[in-house]
Amino acid sequence: MELGALRRAIYKTFCRTLALILALCLFLSLRLGAAEPFSEDKPRIPTTQVGTRSTPSSEATLTLRVYNYARLDAASLAASEKVADAILQNVGIEAVWLDCPAAEAKSKTANPKTSSAEAVKYSDCDSEMGANDIVLRILPRNMAVKLRRSNDSLGSAQSCPETEPACELNVFYHRVDELAANGYRPDRILGHVIAHEVAHVLLGPRHSDDGILRAEWSSSDLKRISLGMHLGFAGDQSTQLRLAVLRRTVPPVDRASARANLLIH
Ligand SMILES: [Zn+2]
Repeated sequence: MELGALRRAIYKTFCRTLALILALCLFLSLRLGAAEPFSEDKPRIPTTQVGTRSTPSSEATLTLRVYNYARLDAASLAASEKVADAILQNVGIEAVWLDCPAAEAKSKTANPKTSSAEAVKYSDCDSEMGANDIVLRILPRNMAVKLRRSNDSLGSAQSCPETEPACELNVFYHRVDELAANGYRPDRILGHVIAHEVAHVLLGPRHSDDGILRAEWSSSDLKRISLGMHLGFAGDQSTQLRLAVLRRTVPPVDRASARANLLIH
């Protein structure tokens, strides 16, 4: 009987110890659970850094609607857009290129099927334009002579307030062709002319003493461009250009409310 009593005592002690351990585990788990909200007060490590160069460049976006009146072939045009795109990307501007039908090409489309296919293909070209939408016109000689102020210039740009949509820039393609006849690469020169004129739309008509925004490019500049080097923007022009695009970028909601205000007043 004593042995049985001893066994019962051992069994009771075991059960009490086990209960104590379980109670301790429960207590600890409740403490840990309650502690989690306080961890919210600790400083958080941001997943993205705000206000640094890691900010997506797409914030400063410029859409260029390209009207190819000079009938430049698609591959050459794409190559030039790529050159201008790289120059603009270097200053933190994301360019979106929208090839649009030139009016003459549109009128010559007699086939209704082709016409409707073109309408679908170029439907984005009919959308509403904002201040960060720019119209790029690549002009042949007969159109350029009506606009040109100087026989030597390669392009022109509209002086355009920052709130004005659809600012225009023109490139005189026959001048690019003339340089090509002297051995320079037309696709790369056209890309640089586009970037130069985009800068005029954004910053105004003034030229600088250095870089791509000079009034004249030397033959050594043209050689460097043709060899694949970029003429860049000088000094703080990069910052000015990017800020100019950001000022032109109005969120769609604000545009809608601006329109509503116009209707009310
Ligand atoms: Zn200029």
